Amino acid sequence: MSTRPGITIIGSGFAGLGMAIKLKEAGYHDFVILEKADDLGGTWRDNTYPGCACDVPSHMYSFSFALNPNWSRMFSPQAEIWDYMRACVTRYGLAPHLRFGKEVVGLEYDDGARNWRVSTGDGAVFTTNAVISGTGALHVPSFPRIPGRERFRGPAFHSAEWDHSADLTGRRVAVIGTGASAVQFVPRIAERASRLHLFQRTPPWIQPRPDFPISSRMRAVLGLPGAARTLRASIYWALEARALGFTVDPRLMRAHEALALRHLAAQVPDPALRAKLTPDYTIGCKRILLSNDYYPALTRDNVEVITDGVAEIRENSIVDATGGEIEVDAIVYGTGFKVVEAMADRRIVGRNGRKIQEAWQDGVETYYGITTAGFPNLFFLLGPNTGLGHHSVVFMIESQVRYVLECLRLLSRTGARALDVRPEVQRAFNDRLQSRLRDLVWSEGGCRSWYLDEHGVNRAVWPGPTFEYWARTRKVRPEAYELIG
Ligand code: NAP
Repeated sequence: MSTRPGITIIGSGFAGLGMAIKLKEAGYHDFVILEKADDLGGTWRDNTYPGCACDVPSHMYSFSFALNPNWSRMFSPQAEIWDYMRACVTRYGLAPHLRFGKEVVGLEYDDGARNWRVSTGDGAVFTTNAVISGTGALHVPSFPRIPGRERFRGPAFHSAEWDHSADLTGRRVAVIGTGASAVQFVPRIAERASRLHLFQRTPPWIQPRPDFPISSRMRAVLGLPGAARTLRASIYWALEARALGFTVDPRLMRAHEALALRHLAAQVPDPALRAKLTPDYTIGCKRILLSNDYYPALTRDNVEVITDGVAEIRENSIVDATGGEIEVDAIVYGTGFKVVEAMADRRIVGRNGRKIQEAWQDGVETYYGITTAGFPNLFFLLGPNTGLGHHSVVFMIESQVRYVLECLRLLSRTGARALDVRPEVQRAFNDRLQSRLRDLVWSEGGCRSWYLDEHGVNRAVWPGPTFEYWARTRKVRPEAYELIG
């Protein structure tokens, strides 16, 4: 096995696989994909909680170059998305490039040799000319700091590490968190558990989910030339139309709020429960969730929504902030992921021995979420400020993959060994970005979300429409980069 690949990709989720496919198509065959787990798929391998499915229509949440006319539903379940990714690996012959059980623990740039040393947890070292990190932002589970959490005796697990050996049937279950994952698994637990105590800190905004099975006849039609692409294009523009409220003025979100409030009123007749579930911040400030079965699950007799907060966890119970003790058999944490920290935590040492933590001490900053000054030939996919509130991140990944290829072509054209984005270019880019983000719903909407860092600065989301990002990353401006060697 070569430990001197020309290019090293980290992660085999949508980002890593998309990059690998396009590298091969462009004639680059000397690359490896390092994957920490023993199977591919990233988030769609890890998240196996009951009810897990995509919340972006599948015809858009897939590669534009590998359309799938056979999605079973508009919003496909996890297993089907994972199958799709495996099919892509087979179709594009990626298997020989995959290296499983290789968790990258360190990246070190060698100024003399002008290459990267990539160390993995099993002691292997890969020496490589370029590193492309496709590790995504949401894969390190975040557990709340609640006194006594480790004392609990029953099954207790995070939504992204679902313990399928724990049978929740007939049990008293506590769920902490009401985010994007929880709204999908809560209905599944509610129909099985004897009691479900749902600890909600902030009610999410929820809209109807336009989901339906796609009939075999419809799938046959989608298999006709041009049909799947036409459907994708119409979904693209329907989602893009939602960008206005996000990227122009939060006041344009009112129609979205009205739709969500009608949905709540239609599904929750009890005014007291409805009041608990009514958000007090602008819609879009946190991710807008789509569900048809979450609210009905909360109206069941065996389900209780608790808004008092969790004060303590004991061996067999949870104590809420009013001092009330609730006996439970199991706890499920739907408390999201460690986000920006996950990236800044990595041991990455760039030019002149500079650590990424030093480079990012005032905040995580990159150029278009892809390159960062002082770290030549290190590329991020789905890096900082490239997340979306309104659209499919697979679209962003494809724009980034094309940009990385343009960078590699620039290197071949000029004969340079590496490229490093100029600090002043990165500075100007981030100043513009942050001045746009300041007035948008994520900062102005009156909520606190994982999009904002500890200083309240948005390090997660792209502030414009996706076609703007696509247009801006179509070409690499050589003057934005220092060419090395
Ligand atoms: P999340 O949306 O960040 O939700 C975490 C939940 O846990 C929130 O309700 C949060 O409350 C609560 N929480 C966190 N810490 C807490 C504490 N100490 N005490 C009480 N409650 C606490 O996490 P997620 O549901 O795992 O989703 C994360 C992201 O993954 C989403 O935004 C989305 O981008 C993605 N996702 C996508 C899909 C999909 O496509 N189907 C599904 C799941 C997730 P607060 O709101 O008060 O912070």
